Amino acid sequence: MGAPAWVGELERLLGPGMVSVGSDDVALHSFDAWPVAVKWRQQRKQPFRPAAVVRPTTAMLVSRLVRWANERGVAVTPWGLGSSVTGAPLPLHGGVALDMTSMSKVLFLDPTNLMVRVQAGKLGLELENEMQAHGFTLGHSPQSLDRSTVGGWVASRGTGQFSSRYGSIEDLVVALSVVLPTGELVETPMVPRAAMGPDLRHLFIGAEGTTGVIVDVTLKLFPLPELRLLEALHFEAVAEGVGAMREITRAGLRPFLLRFYDEDEARYAMVDPAFDGCAMFVGVEGLARVAPAEFDATLEICERQGGHRLGPAAVEAWMDRRFDFSAVENVLLAPGGLAETIEIAGFWDQILDTYTAMKGALAPYAREVLGHFSHVYPQGTSLYLILLGQVADDAAAEELLSRIWEAAMRAALEHGAAISHHHGIGLVRLSYLEEALGTGFPLLQRVISSLDPNGVMNPGKLGHQPGPSVQE
Ligand SMILES: Cc1cc2nc3c(=O)[nH]c(=O)nc-3n(C[C@H](O)[C@H](O)[C@H](O)COP(=O)(O)OP(=O)(O)OC[C@H]3O[C@@H](n4cnc5c(N)ncnc54)[C@H](O)[C@@H]3O)c2cc1C
Repeated sequence: MGAPAWVGELERLLGPGMVSVGSDDVALHSFDAWPVAVKWRQQRKQPFRPAAVVRPTTAMLVSRLVRWANERGVAVTPWGLGSSVTGAPLPLHGGVALDMTSMSKVLFLDPTNLMVRVQAGKLGLELENEMQAHGFTLGHSPQSLDRSTVGGWVASRGTGQFSSRYGSIEDLVVALSVVLPTGELVETPMVPRAAMGPDLRHLFIGAEGTTGVIVDVTLKLFPLPELRLLEALHFEAVAEGVGAMREITRAGLRPFLLRFYDEDEARYAMVDPAFDGCAMFVGVEGLARVAPAEFDATLEICERQGGHRLGPAAVEAWMDRRFDFSAVENVLLAPGGLAETIEIAGFWDQILDTYTAMKGALAPYAREVLGHFSHVYPQGTSLYLILLGQVADDAAAEELLSRIWEAAMRAALEHGAAISHHHGIGLVRLSYLEEALGTGFPLLQRVISSLDPNGVMNPGKLGHQPGPSVQE
């Protein structure tokens, strides 16, 4: 298939070397980490491909590109590092994949006001390492820290493994610079808080690239903790561990790490196939005078709820391998291999029923369904399920994945849960979004279409339809 006629126009507009139509580049931007996309690649299917890939180096170039695309009706889909597990960056209507990774500079570090302003294509782990060298941490540490960008975190409304202390990305963004679908550059106010109308940051946080291109982000920083304390605990039953998590957050304690594994996942978390029961990983950090007291109070609650201390070794080992996803990836990459992760969130009074319903609904589809709870709030918690299995071939795995999602989303919706806690909507949850948002869905559609009246920004996502003139 030849490149569309507009590619030459775009090359002239952006300058030499800015537009790539090479088949490797196009293929790289045709598959994210969504298991269905992995299965497509294994079957040599390529249902969604950009016609061209652009790697801008400045906000001005992003603005020039988007303004042109808006006038010409060419779809633009922002791309961070494609670590989305939902199909969110796949270019449903072709056009331009806007790869942000050439915009990766730290613009300023403000140690007094605890902020860093960074271009959106910066690799997460690189930024965290640079901040640690200055004595700070971002407090945002997704499992994909080593394979995702700052802009991708914001656009996906992501969360990190230490969210119970530091918050999720929406708590960590101070300000954003965004190129709107019309090409205008907008900066949200650079202030610690404001009562100045609705919070404009939220037009872009979690919008999955449908409302504009995030070009830079100002993030909060935290001084590195003086002391970190870790402990693993054994629990007999899921209800005990979930009860302990609820009590910990209710008491106002803020461990940076609080993960509770059901008996199926505990064997993996403890790296002990003979481990019997459930496991909790607890980590507390902060001032050397405060952290031990918070640690003791947290562990006392765990013990009151039936927990037994096992020492820190298992948590220390987990901290060292926490970006390693190979146990799941290797299953998925095998021919006919089936692996999926599904995360939702629910209130405390519903979460055990939701957990039981989802595990039960998913059990027929996989060899193993593992479960853990890992992000807590005074009102409720996330629930994360991992499915592992094996079927005849990749076509069968692809087909089974859609049945798995139907079962999972139905159970989540029936229990009033949020259909995603942090991975987002993408393609995998798209058909459930209207039901999940209810009366909010037409409002979301109106907001997106008023920002992008010609439907050029990541068209087809979040209920955003392509404009009538959007070209393939
Ligand atoms: C092994 C593994 C572990 C993971 N663990 C976590 C986790 O712990 N927490 C978590 O939240 N997620 C996790 N994820 C999911 C994924 O890493 C996140 O959603 C991440 O934020 C995506 O970042 P990215 O840079 O790869 O974005 P991409 O996948 O490239 O894009 C994601 C979405 O953001 C949009 N986008 C990207 N950059 C911009 C921009 N500059 N402006 C506007 N829109 C943009 C894209 O169009 C797309 O809709 C995990 C994924 C994997 C594969």
